[in-house]
Amino acid sequence: MAKEELECSFCGRKKAETNLLIAGLDSHICDRCIEQAHGIVLEESKQDSTEELTSELKLRKPKAIKDFLDEYVIGQDQTKKVMSVAVYNHYKRLLQPKSNDDIEIQKSNIIMAGQTGTGKTLVAKTIAKMLNVPLAIVDATVLTEAGYVGEDVETILTKLLAAADYNVEKAEHGIVFIDEIDKIARKSDNPSITRDVSGEGVQQALLKLLEGTTVNVPPKGGRKHPDQKFIEVNTENILFIAGGAFDGIEKNISKRLNMQAVGYGASKLGESVDKENILQYIIPKDLKDYGLIPEIIGRLPVLTYMDPLDKETLRLILTEPKNAIIKQYQKLFEMDNIDFKITDGALDFIVGKALEYKLGARGLRSLCEAILTDAMFDMPEGEETELKVTKSYAEKALERTSLRKLKAVS
Ligand code: ADP
Repeated sequence: MAKEELECSFCGRKKAETNLLIAGLDSHICDRCIEQAHGIVLEESKQDSTEELTSELKLRKPKAIKDFLDEYVIGQDQTKKVMSVAVYNHYKRLLQPKSNDDIEIQKSNIIMAGQTGTGKTLVAKTIAKMLNVPLAIVDATVLTEAGYVGEDVETILTKLLAAADYNVEKAEHGIVFIDEIDKIARKSDNPSITRDVSGEGVQQALLKLLEGTTVNVPPKGGRKHPDQKFIEVNTENILFIAGGAFDGIEKNISKRLNMQAVGYGASKLGESVDKENILQYIIPKDLKDYGLIPEIIGRLPVLTYMDPLDKETLRLILTEPKNAIIKQYQKLFEMDNIDFKITDGALDFIVGKALEYKLGARGLRSLCEAILTDAMFDMPEGEETELKVTKSYAEKALERTSLRKLKAVS
């Protein structure tokens, strides 16, 4: 073939009509076709990575999700069950093939009510770990303080992006845990009397995120995007889990229950109400009376509660979860070839102190730390290869160290 007759084997353009014509074994390709082909390759690989991502989302059945939660979270059976179903449905929604039957599965964002230290954050963390999706933990109170609502809302996603290592697709399938949602409640039930702008303003701003929207997120020093100012993140498939202590909400619930009881025959309902754990009767209306706006409550359709931690639960938390506190200390000592043992008496003593100082599960850790600090300081360089913590050892160690400090915390 004469040189001037050469043409692109894909589009048929003559050499003269192209900027570049590259020769293969027995065919040619022009610059335009290369560009087009490149576009197709990019598109395909993007699709592949989405598929990869969805198959990576380890979708388990609700029972398996609960089994996983059981390994890390003690008690809280109702919440674990409710969460398992909500999470299962949420990810089923993501994986559903596009259909044209007009049935759109809506998001199952979750709200948990429960005293501080009962495991709300732990549940969210465990779910994220199980699904292998990024998790951002944000504090709703921070959103109130800064005032610039729009900006603040974006910082939630900045955190999620960072947790996803700036992989936008991963972030868009992640979980956001909003702690202390109760702190942005409207202070008065009646907006016309007291206008608590900050609380309600933040709720309004959050609403958009919960609904599903595209937000321009500043990556904030993300090394991978040095010259990119904003990253677009769509929140449609992000699972939001909100948690709050809702201090004092029990009063509202009791009041409501009593009012119902009057209507239905007081004694019967009065008897069946578990007064030690009023939170279990929580309904969305109680959240509204507390000061969450109805739109927010509507966007957090799965409502659940945490049981207060009793003695037995605290005792189990010390030793039973997969990464239980005592197991962690055992490992720490083991690294110095020290065999760490703790008696039942000492464990009961620690639980007793946690209850006495009202420190909850969080206190278990500080108590252990206070009791074991001396040993952890001295033993690595000593001769001893065994540490046995008895009740009297724990008592003495606690007296020596930060007993007062712990009391101050409570
Ligand atoms: P919350 O978010 O409700 O304030 P966290 O989840 O942060 O409480 O719990 C504080 C710590 O207490 C956790 O790190 C965890 O070790 C422990 N903890 C609390 N509740 C439980 C529980 N039900 N099972 C196991 N550990 C728990």
